[in-house]
Amino acid sequence: MKPATFAVLNNTALRHNLNVVRQYAPGAKVMAVIKANGYGHGLIRVAKELRTSDAFAVARVDEGIRLRKAGITQRIVVLEGFVCHEELALIERFQMETVLHCDEQLDMLESIDTANYINCWLKLDTGMHRLGFDVTQVTRVINRINQCRSIAKPVPLMTHLANADDVNDSATDQQIKIFNNVTAHISEQRSIANSSGILEWKTSLSDWVRPGIMLFGVSPFSNKNGTEYGLKPALTLYSKLLAIKDLKVGDAVGYGGLWVCKRPMKLGVIATGYGDGYPRSAASNTPVLVNGCRAPLVGRVSMDMITVDLTHCQSARIGDQVVLWGEELPVEEIARCASTIPYTLMCGITQRVMIIEEEIDRN
Ligand SMILES: *Cc1c(COP(=O)(O)O)cnc(C)c1O
Repeated sequence: MKPATFAVLNNTALRHNLNVVRQYAPGAKVMAVIKANGYGHGLIRVAKELRTSDAFAVARVDEGIRLRKAGITQRIVVLEGFVCHEELALIERFQMETVLHCDEQLDMLESIDTANYINCWLKLDTGMHRLGFDVTQVTRVINRINQCRSIAKPVPLMTHLANADDVNDSATDQQIKIFNNVTAHISEQRSIANSSGILEWKTSLSDWVRPGIMLFGVSPFSNKNGTEYGLKPALTLYSKLLAIKDLKVGDAVGYGGLWVCKRPMKLGVIATGYGDGYPRSAASNTPVLVNGCRAPLVGRVSMDMITVDLTHCQSARIGDQVVLWGEELPVEEIARCASTIPYTLMCGITQRVMIIEEEIDRN
């Protein structure tokens, strides 16, 4: 029997979304970003479904090791790189590629006597001010790289966009311009675009694209859903109706009793909560699908349960299937209701939630 709250991962949708990436970025190589446990979908199972990607990207060394130990043989890029000799040794041992973003990393690379060359991506900071060498340092850093025996050549170039999820923000054009200017004289491969770049910033397309969220069928833009770009949601989160209660005017629901009945109503109690990753910040009226019928959330989200108003879902019965987000109920919409972004909901699905893989082709 399935547990009360479970998720279905649609592998057909995952592969479809990778094809959508290729349509938006024809000719580009795809580095599938599957950090944070594949955005909550399961690192290994996502890597296996997306094996036609040209490379995988993870944030951390340990995520790359998990991929290697599961038999993944594709290129693996560690986006945060390494901060100590131990991590550098692991990158070498598990044949991963590292992002190079600071001089301390170059110090370490210069100090090792390695027979195997380490594959590196040179990251430039074009305005995000998180990771990357300042663009004024490009010539000096490239000289240093060229002198460093342990670094495999050539070294591709990359940068990351800070504001690409806002199609009206000129900072993106500015970043792309800076990147193109400082790298104009360099003939190496380039990578700029994340999902928002791929979907809305044609000038950010280059040799490599780095899609993350769109692989899972979800939009990086707060005002648009993935389906509007031809993407298909990969994961649907399900639960069950646990109880139905008749409440009268004045009855307070849930912790704190903040939500109070204004008219007699049928209350549905659903077996999911923040212990599964349902956001505690979900506001009243956040939609939940009970047997296909939209029911608004009422009262506070607790660890194992949420409560909904079943007034307009008269046929609801105990044990009925509930959809929290996914197909038919966009996670983008739930994120808006919870004052957050879909990324946090996807990454926030907890260990308790069993993920079941299926092939569902709805066209
Ligand atoms: C996470 C990440 C991506 C993917 O971002 P999405 O918005 O999920 O497409 C790409 N590049 C870097 C450097 C990242 O950290």
